[in-house]
Amino acid sequence: MNRLSFPPLLLCAVALLAAAVTAAGEGRVFVRSRYLMGTAVEIKARGADAAETQGAINAAFDEIARLEALMTTWSADSDVSRVNAMAGRAPVRVAPEVIEVVEHALGVSRLTGGAFDITIEPLVQLWGIDGDGKAKVPAKKEIDAALGRVGYRHVHVDRGEGTIFLDEAGVRIGLGGVAKGYAAERARGVLKARGVRSAIVNAGGDMAMLGKDGDRPWRVDIRDPREPGGTMGWLQLENRTVHTSGDYERFRVIKGKRYHHILSPLTGYPARRSQAVTIVSRDGALGDALSTGVLVLGPEEGIKLIESLDGVAVLVVDNGGKLHMSGAMRKRFHPAPLPERRRESVAPSLS
Ligand code: ADP
Ligand code: MG
Repeated sequence: MNRLSFPPLLLCAVALLAAAVTAAGEGRVFVRSRYLMGTAVEIKARGADAAETQGAINAAFDEIARLEALMTTWSADSDVSRVNAMAGRAPVRVAPEVIEVVEHALGVSRLTGGAFDITIEPLVQLWGIDGDGKAKVPAKKEIDAALGRVGYRHVHVDRGEGTIFLDEAGVRIGLGGVAKGYAAERARGVLKARGVRSAIVNAGGDMAMLGKDGDRPWRVDIRDPREPGGTMGWLQLENRTVHTSGDYERFRVIKGKRYHHILSPLTGYPARRSQAVTIVSRDGALGDALSTGVLVLGPEEGIKLIESLDGVAVLVVDNGGKLHMSGAMRKRFHPAPLPERRRESVAPSLS
């Protein structure tokens, strides 16, 4: 059924999953969750005034909901769906936020040589890994036909006019790999504008931090992609965005083989070079798109790319479970004591 980037908000009851209040440091800590953009988004914020802090959290959630309504491919009247409907026909006027996200996405397509590509959408729909329909591996013929409609050069942004044009019928865009990072960062901006000085927005692995966690840096645990509940290590960060893409969150097992939701625009099949990628940056949309793109590129090309960018760090778990890091990441990463059976495969290859 749902083969699109974000499940329908109206059907997924807007759930208040947690509302915890604890005392800590300066002010109290408020934690709230809402189901948005197809994931449980959690916001944790500190504040002396309960009503003000909770008001800021609600406004931050509302901002994410507003962006979701513009960028989802679920509803036919979102900006993105209107752009898709006019493919090969005419440019479509969209909100400035959509222009911004699409420009970021195209920038990352150029940086990654097309490993990140929002026009992968026809393949995302064909595979249907994000949805709840019956899982099957598409026929090679179908994959090749969908691949024929993929290519970021089909996307034309006119900043002056505020329009996006897809220059061939059948081309479609989907912002699943970039919108959550952008939205988390925008939510952080709302919290900041309302006077919050310590907060973290976590949109299912896309995080944006404001200040510190009270008087210490925020601690982000890096999950072990093959050990549910296991941690490979952690990062201590302030004022950064962190993005993780992996093959372990959304996948289907078909005839004993794992097929996950990040696809290679080169082959049309799920990317095979890495199990997980974490990017630390200062820009939510850039970091989110890069985490997806580097997962496709794999450790060698991915780390080379990230080393060439200012203010971005990366950690890649390759398809054999080994850790690879950029120089900046090596300085920040605290490895966890590893269970014996992973010690051999992981520890010697810290690079
Ligand atoms: P998650 O959404 O699980 O946090 P990502 O940020 O890596 O993970 O985004 C994955 C989503 O991006 C997929 O569900 C799909 O909609 C889209 N996508 C898949 N492959 C690519 C790709 N090569 N380039 C751009 N977007 C992709
Ligand atoms: Mg991403």
